[in-house]
Amino acid sequence: MKLNPLPIDAILPQLVQTLGHAACTVLRAPPGAGKTTRVPPALLDSGLAGAGQIVLLEPRRVAARSAAARISFERGAPLGAETGYRVRFESRAGAATRIIAMTQGVFLRMLHDDPFLERVGVVIFDEFHERQLDADVGLAMVRRVQREFRPELKLVVMSATLDTAGLSDYLDHCPVIESSGRMHPVAVSYLPRHVSGPIAPLVIEALEQLLTETPGDVLVFLPGVGEIRRAAEALRPIAAQHDLAVMQLYGDLPLDQQQRVLVPLAQRKVVLATNVAETSITIDGVTGVVDSGLARTLRFEPGVGLNRLELGRISQASAEQRAGRAGRTAPGTCLRLWTAAEQRLLAAEEVPEILRVDLAAAALQLACWGETELADFGWLQSPPPASIEQAIALLGQLGAVVDRRPTELGRLMARLPVHPRLARLLVEGARLGQPRRAALAAALLSERDPFRRAPGGRRTSQHRSASDVLDRVTALEDFERRAGPDSDLAPLDTGAARATLRVRDQLLRLLEGEEPSRDAQACDPDEAVLRALLVAYPDRVARRREPAGRRALLVGGRGVRLADESAVGEADLFVCVDIEEVGQGEALVRQASAIERDWLPADRVTSGVDVQFDSQRERVIGWRRTRYADLVISEAPTSIPPDVDPGPILAAAILDRFGDGWPLSEDESAFLARVELLRGAMPELELPDIASRLIAAWLPELCAGQVSVADVRKQSLLGVWKSHFTALQLQAIDRHAPERLQVPSGSFVALRYELGKPPILAVRIQEVFGWRQTPRIAGQRVRVLLHLLAPNMRPQQITDDLESFWTNTYSQVRKDLRRQYPKHAWPEDPWTAQPEHRPRSNRRS
Ligand code: ADP
Ligand code: MG
Repeated sequence: MKLNPLPIDAILPQLVQTLGHAACTVLRAPPGAGKTTRVPPALLDSGLAGAGQIVLLEPRRVAARSAAARISFERGAPLGAETGYRVRFESRAGAATRIIAMTQGVFLRMLHDDPFLERVGVVIFDEFHERQLDADVGLAMVRRVQREFRPELKLVVMSATLDTAGLSDYLDHCPVIESSGRMHPVAVSYLPRHVSGPIAPLVIEALEQLLTETPGDVLVFLPGVGEIRRAAEALRPIAAQHDLAVMQLYGDLPLDQQQRVLVPLAQRKVVLATNVAETSITIDGVTGVVDSGLARTLRFEPGVGLNRLELGRISQASAEQRAGRAGRTAPGTCLRLWTAAEQRLLAAEEVPEILRVDLAAAALQLACWGETELADFGWLQSPPPASIEQAIALLGQLGAVVDRRPTELGRLMARLPVHPRLARLLVEGARLGQPRRAALAAALLSERDPFRRAPGGRRTSQHRSASDVLDRVTALEDFERRAGPDSDLAPLDTGAARATLRVRDQLLRLLEGEEPSRDAQACDPDEAVLRALLVAYPDRVARRREPAGRRALLVGGRGVRLADESAVGEADLFVCVDIEEVGQGEALVRQASAIERDWLPADRVTSGVDVQFDSQRERVIGWRRTRYADLVISEAPTSIPPDVDPGPILAAAILDRFGDGWPLSEDESAFLARVELLRGAMPELELPDIASRLIAAWLPELCAGQVSVADVRKQSLLGVWKSHFTALQLQAIDRHAPERLQVPSGSFVALRYELGKPPILAVRIQEVFGWRQTPRIAGQRVRVLLHLLAPNMRPQQITDDLESFWTNTYSQVRKDLRRQYPKHAWPEDPWTAQPEHRPRSNRRS
């Protein structure tokens, strides 16, 4: 057979020659150059693989199948003979197969059986620019095999666009071969203004424009099968009008239909494709591209704790690739269904998956392969340490690893082509005698949701299972029996429903040989699914806050709320299978599944007494609590155990509530002021500093042995404070900052101390006749501030200079008050007058 020439042909001899002496080579060429179809046969024919296979790794099932088909076709051999493929659930290869295309995920699982790739001569990573997690993992694994065990193994990394320098550095500065390929100019235009809503009408408009502007076929990029089907429907009228062949291209399409898209037709083709057409599959004759700007890419969805396909905007790099598809054979046109302003907001390129997705599956694969030190594994780009820890923690909870080493269960799980959670679900379902239902649950959780909208409303009694997952399982089983599009639960997308059932059957086949355990008979078929879900989501157990309420608390302390449509109406405990983040507050649980308390694994259930402050009763009390991880599943008040001192707990609670606002009594304030005054005036006393120590410092002593705030209120800080002074110091305080002062009348009058203020002596004028000067304390260093009181006990004068009062002011005061209080003494000469001691009187007399 005479092959049509492709740009890559020119560099194939160079590639073969380079690989003759180099262990690795990077090959860069634009999409459509012929990398996928021509490189593997060239390497086979060169003998570089020896007797081994050439493994061609593709990021997608559709690419693996179509590559194998095309290579077989060009080699004039049946598919599955010299060239074959292996993808999830499907294989066309035999003993004679030399070139085998496979997905990266299948390759990782293959490494379990053939850890040193002994049957392989060359490994080719195709489309490496997509940087899927499995590609990064696989590349690091192959590197290690090559370096440590198989120096003769050849490695080729191919890509359409890539920073090839970094990759070459990683591969010991290996040679880079480039084939530029010829590209024609592509005119790119944007929407004049932002349009929201369904894509189909925009596609029609764009298509009508392109049909007049370009002569060739048109490629339309849409995010998924649903959008493709709807667009195909909407395009019918103009397809008829313009005699167009509207075709679909996506990953799940059967091989023959996929191949039909690639065959040239007399009619003009309009191909509605997912991003498989971005670089994986090249359709000849395209001169027009319509780009929705959307794609479903794998993302870690914290809500379901799984990696799932999620709708999002593509990057600028990807938009450029898509536009380039119009200019392969002639100048082309690309219409982008977004505005030029929006274009500037797109990410420059995709973040590699290894930096953003859940690593549990990869960590399990690596652990089973013998690599447990994920942090220093020879990565092209290391994953975030937190992701590694999270992955290992989850695998531990699933029972897949212990001390980072795989358990027997873990090895079993690693062979199943689903996330470890779902693998665990499958294994548990099989053990409980319900592999089929567990497989359906796993298929529902990993594949496209066949329910058109959230179930609810039309729930009938037979769907009252207290599990949203089980409800869906039952609804799909009903669908399978009746094959009708409507379930009792919610309208079904029959295509997706059938696909889900197919995945179930495929998973089921992989489970064959998993024997039910002996106690399986005892387990009700519904209960088996619920129990298996708990085992798959051990970190997602929640407890309802109040009976029949919708709010609950999740392990780890997060608050969640059950969606209205959830069937889990009463159960105290349930697992949250699908959690939707809604803003900052409580997350919304879309799918939950009830569990029984005694299903919880005993080794994670603990029981004990917590002694804690009850803020309502303002006292420390005991609670006997049973917990699953950190989630309280039952509790009752109990007495404080004798070995627990409630004091520190009380102190912490008081500090928390009052901070430094704990009120000091008058006595306490006065003592504090006296000490401070003396610390300032008489440093030689070396009194301890009690003022600058906050209440926090004294609380533990104050609260020792106490149980309630009321108890503490009855305590005084004075005792605590005084215990920090020596007896001599306390005597000195009494002497130098006395509580009372004797005045000339003989009375002992109280001194008022306030922090930062001079001491105040409030005394009737008549009692201090004879005092010439202001009295002083603190070793004569601090003057007292006199509040000189009239007979009605109101301050007549405030002074710290008594001498000046007598000399300058007293005569006027005497004049004013004499008539008012004639019974009191108002001598002309206060220095020599007899002070008088009289009970207080404010009568006018
Ligand atoms: P690359 O991998 O470099 O992107 P491919 O090897 O996929 O390039 O494709 C090279 C050429 O072979 C393209 O022009 C493509 O259209 C053509 N081709 C590949 N598969 C088929 C097929 N099944 N039918 C028709 N043409 C095909
Ligand atoms: Mg290719």
